[in-house]
Amino acid sequence: MSENIFEDAISRLDKACKESDIYPEAIEQLKHPKQVLEVSVPVRMDDGSLKVFKGFRIRHMDFRGPTKGGIRFHPNVNREEVLALAFWMSFKCAVVGIPYGGAKGGVCVDPKSLSRLELERLSRSYVERIADFIGPDLDIPAPDVYTNAMVMGWMMDEYSMIRRKRTPSVITGKPIPLGGSLGRDDATGRGAYYCIKEMEKENAWNPKEITVSVQGFGNAGQHVARLLFADGYKIVGISDSQGGIFLEEGFDVPSIIQMKEESKQVKAVYCKGSVCETIDAKHISNQELLELDVDILIPSALENQITAENAPKIRAKTIVEVANGPVNSEADSILLEHGIEIIPDILANAGGVVVSYYEWLQNRSGQYWQEEQVHQKLRETMSDSFQKVLTMQKRKHLDMRTAAYVCALDAIGESIAAGGTMEYFTNMI
Ligand code: GLU
Repeated sequence: MSENIFEDAISRLDKACKESDIYPEAIEQLKHPKQVLEVSVPVRMDDGSLKVFKGFRIRHMDFRGPTKGGIRFHPNVNREEVLALAFWMSFKCAVVGIPYGGAKGGVCVDPKSLSRLELERLSRSYVERIADFIGPDLDIPAPDVYTNAMVMGWMMDEYSMIRRKRTPSVITGKPIPLGGSLGRDDATGRGAYYCIKEMEKENAWNPKEITVSVQGFGNAGQHVARLLFADGYKIVGISDSQGGIFLEEGFDVPSIIQMKEESKQVKAVYCKGSVCETIDAKHISNQELLELDVDILIPSALENQITAENAPKIRAKTIVEVANGPVNSEADSILLEHGIEIIPDILANAGGVVVSYYEWLQNRSGQYWQEEQVHQKLRETMSDSFQKVLTMQKRKHLDMRTAAYVCALDAIGESIAAGGTMEYFTNMI
């Protein structure tokens, strides 16, 4: 395995392209990003000093439409990570059939150390630096780790001021009064929930007998836990960046969400509370949470959580990847050998970008949808995509990740081939 997260991400292509109809010359293009932008992001701090942060926006490929993907504010943001995240976005959009290519952005910063005003200045300064690289028909950002609706609102406002034109469709995941979509907030968790409902049907599960652990209690993790709990699933393990908790009989998820909510310090913007500080249960580490003996493990935090080191210790029967890239390629092989099924990130966490697409459609048409309509369309898209991948998996005897990549490659390949292939130009067909 390569130490480089992007190299590791593209290594999955080699396995999948053997099973796909895509032209080999197209694969070569997918191994390189279309455009990489590195920027400096100057911010005047509250104490009067000036700090300069490093930022990126990377467009992986745009064969299927404008590029799409979130913006992350995190101290570990670096070029390779953003590249891998942009690459995954391309495949995510293709597997669920929305007309976008992949992109991602990020700023290397610890947002929890900033005041609200500093955070707003950072968001606006970053947009000022990438403004020529993004646009409603070019590249459309969205929230990701440690960015939220309010940050998207500031960014949309800054872009609109630069263009001197109100442009809500330049960014998705905005607050509802600023052109956001109903149902966008919980869309990532809800999309994963719809995938699990498809598995429930396939395996004739009784939710009351199914135990679940969730690593990461941010936007995606909280919502998937809430929806599963409401259906009777037993959520026995929960963790956030500060640590985890375990309760054999299962947690009352709404009260944990409420407690996490109450312990927030910068309420409207960032949650600083930690679940392990607020609940009386057995305290466990993030590592211990990953190794719990449960039916479903839902990593919903960051990439590279399950590697060759801890993969042999994983006892979950199914892993649903709500985070991007939580399992690296070496761990993949070990988990598969142990018979652990993985619902891959590019399918399991696609709900967020699907509803981003609906938001973009609403912004462009000026017509806004009811929440029920968003849920229904998301359910249809997620269920259809899940079944398409499952059919591919069964037909070609693949694992779910490879099957999802094959479906995505076929879709991307069709777009590339529509512009002509080597066979076409050399008159062989
Ligand atoms: N950041 C989310 C993701 O990784 C959402 C991207 C979007 O909505 O464009 O899928």
